[in-house]
Amino acid sequence: MRFESTLQFANLVSVDDQDQPAGFEPDRLTVNAMIPPQVAFERFLREKHTRFEEKYAHIAGRIAVEDLPSAQLYRWFVDWMNRQLSDIGVNSTGGVALPPLHFELVSVHNDVAAAHVFEAEEFTFIVMTQPMFDEMLRLSRRLVEQNRAFMSLQIAPSASPPEIAQLLLLMQFSFVTSHEYSHLVRRHLEDHQPHAAAIGESLCQTQELDADGYGIYHELAYFFQGGGRQLASQWLRISAGKALENSILSCFLLSIMIQFCARWAGKMQVESDLGGEHPPLPVRIEYAILFVEMWCREVGAMSTPWMTDGTIKDYFAAAARLFPPEMKAAWDQQMSWLKSPRSEQYRDQIRRGIDRLRTGKE
Ligand SMILES: [Zn+2]
Repeated sequence: MRFESTLQFANLVSVDDQDQPAGFEPDRLTVNAMIPPQVAFERFLREKHTRFEEKYAHIAGRIAVEDLPSAQLYRWFVDWMNRQLSDIGVNSTGGVALPPLHFELVSVHNDVAAAHVFEAEEFTFIVMTQPMFDEMLRLSRRLVEQNRAFMSLQIAPSASPPEIAQLLLLMQFSFVTSHEYSHLVRRHLEDHQPHAAAIGESLCQTQELDADGYGIYHELAYFFQGGGRQLASQWLRISAGKALENSILSCFLLSIMIQFCARWAGKMQVESDLGGEHPPLPVRIEYAILFVEMWCREVGAMSTPWMTDGTIKDYFAAAARLFPPEMKAAWDQQMSWLKSPRSEQYRDQIRRGIDRLRTGKE
């Protein structure tokens, strides 16, 4: 995603607040397609349900955001996403030809928090379940609530808690959707993977890290250099300059920590059609931080004192506090395994795999 389409700022209202005037027609994505994408999606889902394909059984249907007021959160986020997807530049795809993409927020029969990529005939659909969106919103709000002093002293002195939470929500939302998008751009869903033989059994896991990395690069470009910078400036009420950049970076790091902890606390992993294993969450967190650091150094020309001054540890602790304490014990166990010599071979394999995917070289 080039993530640069002009975005009208809307005063967003919360999901349960629907007292906005209804009846406004959204501009829907209809480019290159004979049928509107939402119709194609309904048809696609009906077909899968008729065939009792298990993978789609939990999805009840799309949420008709066009019936919601334009400032309502679901509606705003779905419109925002589809605007990004309709404006994909060559830079972003690295020259890979993509089918028309369309995003849908879907209701589900269970409370599964997940995101998917579904490839259909006319479109490829990126899908997020309503419980995942609601969870992101809930966690964002709680994190701001639990860290009021930090938020007003360090992040955004003039912004209200809901405004800061909204930015954390947008960053989580775009992290998950860019991850799914990256699987497509990086051709992870195709049958013949160029480095499959060389990477071997860790292919799926390294692809997950590759998608995290590519997604992070997109997001950072959007929030530091694209349309996201203006949104962050408005929501955080910081006009410009270094203060804005510091706050964007803090919110970004916090939002990926929240999202990883949420997946870790795990109803389910963020999932694509890969069907493969995801790396343990501490590995994803570690690589995510490395990708952010790389982007700051190589693209953003920013120094990265936060890598070593305890910031990361504090942010992780703030995100972890959103979850029950017993979870922390299980996480500590996984982390100590990853730090022990017993995991050395595993870590080495992952490192070689991700290097190979990113550079194409041995
Ligand atoms: Zn994935």
